[in-house]
Amino acid sequence: MKNKRSKIYGNSWGTQKDIREIDVKVEIFRNAWNRIKKAVSSSNIEEGGKLLGTIRQDMNGLTIEVSSYIDSGPAVDNSATHLHPDGDYQESMFRILETFDPEVQHIGSWHSHHCNGLDELSQGDIRGYQRSVNNPQYNLDYFFVILIYGVRARELRAKYYLFCRGQNPHYIIRETEVDIIGEVYPFEELLSAGEKTSEQSRRIHGLRNIPRKTGKNFLRDTPVHEQTESIKEILSDDSKWLKERFPSAVASRSKRGRIRWNWQIKGDGNFLWVHYTYPPKLNENETGTAKLEIAYKNSMILVESVQLDSNRHELIEELIAKTAHDTVSNPIRIDITEQ
Ligand SMILES: [Zn+2]
Repeated sequence: MKNKRSKIYGNSWGTQKDIREIDVKVEIFRNAWNRIKKAVSSSNIEEGGKLLGTIRQDMNGLTIEVSSYIDSGPAVDNSATHLHPDGDYQESMFRILETFDPEVQHIGSWHSHHCNGLDELSQGDIRGYQRSVNNPQYNLDYFFVILIYGVRARELRAKYYLFCRGQNPHYIIRETEVDIIGEVYPFEELLSAGEKTSEQSRRIHGLRNIPRKTGKNFLRDTPVHEQTESIKEILSDDSKWLKERFPSAVASRSKRGRIRWNWQIKGDGNFLWVHYTYPPKLNENETGTAKLEIAYKNSMILVESVQLDSNRHELIEELIAKTAHDTVSNPIRIDITEQ
């Protein structure tokens, strides 16, 4: 079965004659096939997706392997007679997939006519696929198409087509030459989850009523090694500053592993305890927020967040001065020498 190949038959109008001597073999991964079956069986409008896999040409002909597909997305616009997939979603999904599988290729499309009785590609379909295969952005010279035109006895009724770059006619591949095989695409689960989430989102927002991109800012994470550098800089800057302003400051590590500075500010017979604690995961948070706590007579009288930016020293001094001033019952005079 592995080496079975068939000739490409027919032309764009479906007449079955041998027009080229190219042998073709098609293999479709069972999980993807079952996912198509599920999508079509539970729908009474056109469904579809972008096929992923490989198309290889060698001495013996063409081998088309369909490993999976990307569903039509949450903002698909479809009815019993048309299907416009959510292109933004499909591209985003493809980009995510690429980060896991740099080899992933878009090799064609599938869509269904199970809801309208048309058992051929429409003229619109054909023009669309011709545009796709001739698009300079498309990486291959062949575009493989599956048309699902019915579901009978829980089996899909399908036709298979091949479009070629630079050629007007397209070709029909006989159903008998297509094998459903037991291999599993390693990232099938991700794509399957994507399809479920698209369906869910369509249910929540209603058909064709999905809000488009919100324009929210999306902050890219800074690479980890840079964050580590900047935290080292923060620690070294703070150490210099504390040596000058609060020479009694001592660094320690809390039970939970956080780095913390502790120091005392002496007043008239009393003192404030200052704790300046860095966030728990320093290397995952570049600017980050530290915690400043000030205790007086065994009770915490100030807890404040301190953004770890260039204003932090000024802010800490202000907070300490204010707290000292506020302990009016027994004011504490801070003795900080002017620089
Ligand atoms: Zn169609």
